[in-house]
Amino acid sequence: AEEAVRNDELVYQNDSRRQEAQWEISLLTSLDRAIDNGEVWVAYQPKLDLKLNRICGAEALVRWTHPERGPISPEKFIRIAEEFHRIERITRFVINDAVRTAVELQRMGYDLTMSVNISAQLLRNPGLPGMIADILAEHELPPDRLILEITETDRLDRSSRTYQMLQRLVRSGLRLSIDDFGTGNATIDYLRYLPASEVKIDKSFVSAMETSKEDLLLVQSIIDMAHSLDRTVVAEGVETATGLETLRELHCDVIQGYYLSRPVPFRELLEQIVQPRALKIG
Ligand code: C2E
Ligand code: MG
Ligand code: MG
Ligand code: MG
Repeated sequence: AEEAVRNDELVYQNDSRRQEAQWEISLLTSLDRAIDNGEVWVAYQPKLDLKLNRICGAEALVRWTHPERGPISPEKFIRIAEEFHRIERITRFVINDAVRTAVELQRMGYDLTMSVNISAQLLRNPGLPGMIADILAEHELPPDRLILEITETDRLDRSSRTYQMLQRLVRSGLRLSIDDFGTGNATIDYLRYLPASEVKIDKSFVSAMETSKEDLLLVQSIIDMAHSLDRTVVAEGVETATGLETLRELHCDVIQGYYLSRPVPFRELLEQIVQPRALKIG
């Protein structure tokens, strides 16, 4: 009987794996139409400068609201998009929306930086600099208003083509940020040679720091190390007033997180810029 159960489980596992594959393919098919249909859109999460007490920028985060399936997590469809060569198209869409938004805010008198996430796979695409340059030129946004977020795990060798491309992008005025910092195995040396002006401490440390002394010390040492290398430090995933105050005491430069605002449509971002909720409470 036990054997039968185990066989059943195997059949079930194969079955669910097949269902998973089918789901991915159907997702991919609908993704192709989703951008044209307006199901894919861009949410913005504000970043608060702790010294100036004002919103200094926003991160563009892609959203897919499927008409039947509802919201689909970007972690899920970005992975599929990478696997099936759709990431370039999605990223162009996101950068275009982000740049247009930044220009619109500038016209309203708000000078904000705009951050966009760049997949490791796209970093290896030699067409990336041209794509970004075209979008910036079309909307006439100064390149230093755009920040490209790359993750620490996309370890780059100094001799690699990608590293050299990133250096050229930075020389052309664009800014680079290391996302999810602390989760990979980056060394101080890596942080030093990468031409990034910003480090984003991963949200896992930021939430853990409230209950664990060890994580608090870790956050503190990341901030101090980044500052000694003249990098701006952003803490992501700040969910509480206590977290904000702790980060202020640790001299963190910028915070981002649900305490301030969830990622929201442009109109709500604007409300946050005019009067940040976290500052109203505090
Ligand atoms: P990420 O770039 O590290 O973005 C931060 C994630 O943390 C976002 O999840 C954001 O909604 C979430 N977050 C922000 N504040 C808080 C908080 O206080 N608490 C908690 N628990 N979470 C918070 P999201 O939007 O689901 O995106 C997940 C990941 O998907 C992103 O991580 C990024 O790696 C990727 N992604 C999102 N949009 C894009 C995109 O346009 N292109 C690419 N290549 N990747 C993207
Ligand atoms: Mg990011
Ligand atoms: Mg992150
Ligand atoms: Mg991430």
